[in-house]
Amino acid sequence: MSDSTARPLDGMLEQIRAFVRHELGPLEARFLAEPFRALLPAMEEARGRVKALGLWAPHLPREEGGRGLSLAEFGRVSEELGRSPLGHLAFNCQAPDIGNMELLHAHASPALRERWLGPLVRGEVRSCFAMTEPEHAGSNPVHLSTTARREGDEYVIDGHKWFTSSADGAAFAIVMAVTDPDAPKPHARASQILVPAGTPGFRIVRNIPVMGDVGEDYFSHADVRFEGCRVPVENRIGAQGAGFLLAQERLGPGRIHHCMRWIGVCERAFDLMCRRAAERELAPGEPLASRQAVQHWIAESRAEIDAARLMTLDTAERIDRGGVREARVQISTIKFFVAGVLGRVLDRALQVHGALGMTDDLLLAFWYRHERGARIYDGPDEVHKSVVAREVLKGYGVDIGI
Ligand SMILES: Cc1cc2nc3c(=O)[nH]c(=O)nc-3n(C[C@H](O)[C@H](O)[C@H](O)COP(=O)(O)OP(=O)(O)OC[C@H]3O[C@@H](n4cnc5c(N)ncnc54)[C@H](O)[C@@H]3O)c2cc1C
Repeated sequence: MSDSTARPLDGMLEQIRAFVRHELGPLEARFLAEPFRALLPAMEEARGRVKALGLWAPHLPREEGGRGLSLAEFGRVSEELGRSPLGHLAFNCQAPDIGNMELLHAHASPALRERWLGPLVRGEVRSCFAMTEPEHAGSNPVHLSTTARREGDEYVIDGHKWFTSSADGAAFAIVMAVTDPDAPKPHARASQILVPAGTPGFRIVRNIPVMGDVGEDYFSHADVRFEGCRVPVENRIGAQGAGFLLAQERLGPGRIHHCMRWIGVCERAFDLMCRRAAERELAPGEPLASRQAVQHWIAESRAEIDAARLMTLDTAERIDRGGVREARVQISTIKFFVAGVLGRVLDRALQVHGALGMTDDLLLAFWYRHERGARIYDGPDEVHKSVVAREVLKGYGVDIGI
């Protein structure tokens, strides 16, 4: 729910845009050239300034220290932050922490909230979310081998996860594990359990190199093992067997967050593309922008970004009004559509820059690599297209059976 005492959104957006440009912009060259670890002191300073401005963790309700924004309002904030790869981190609303905060806020016990949500909200710790397993198709997440066997007052967790983003340096993981293997419905077999880092039997095997990036700290994707890992039953989040229900609840808003961040990336790439097209001369007085191919890339990108924003904000407003269930088809529609726009806009912007676009001197090459995953994580394109087609075809009396 929107908080009527919140500062008018437009003013806040302007303030955030200025912060991203003037405070984070100067850090971006270092971000591209140095290991992320080297940037941490400067990032801590920037985070301190965000707190002082009262803009910290804007996605959270006021009682948790946030801004009390609706999902649609936070979506617009997320777009502004997405213009820099450091935006969400500076405001403490980066994935996967943002999803874990929302989950703990809504479903964890008071004791878990105090022990783990408080430090996460204050930005003292990071977290990760471990669902996908290398041995099973992540596109069908009910197919899991990781188990959490109940022994007295403890769960004993055994299993293998990978692509656990940001696990390197995280204070805890939220793990999806099968607790009820005999439940008739596959969706009722797993639970979400909080496992603190350092718990015996919880081990990061390695950070998986991804797209030429060794991946450390926040930017890591880890291969993780659980071997006889014991945690108290109180570490379960929500009811036993409710793991997938909670995952769906998390992923709806999560897709709005991602899509709006991607739109921010698109706007920055679009700006770079237009500047380069205007400034780069093929011959004296003949800018790249004089060529029709470039003009079409600019026009197509403008149209696609605007369409993506309208679709995503419409979906966010539906969720604000009626919850995730009311917007299932729209959530799937934006997930594949906006991820596609992101890929196309980045590709055109990079192409307009020629060799310069390939260098690590600009953000384009970073985003080109880093954002390719958008068409895979939180459900690959093909899965979401099938969901949309299934719902459309129901109206024509056809059950495609997925
Ligand atoms: C950058 C990145 C970060 C991630 N972070 C996390 C994280 O923090 N925590 C976590 O648990 N997981 C994470 N993941 C994992 C992610 O959720 C999975 O990669 C995703 O669910 C797809 O599963 P998979 O990789 O096993 O692909 P598979 O399920 O093996 O699918 C492979 C391909 O098959 C095709 N396909 C799949 N299903 C269908 C279908 N029904 N119809 C047609 N084609 C289909 C698609 O093209 C798909 O890309 C991350 C992944 C990436 C890339």
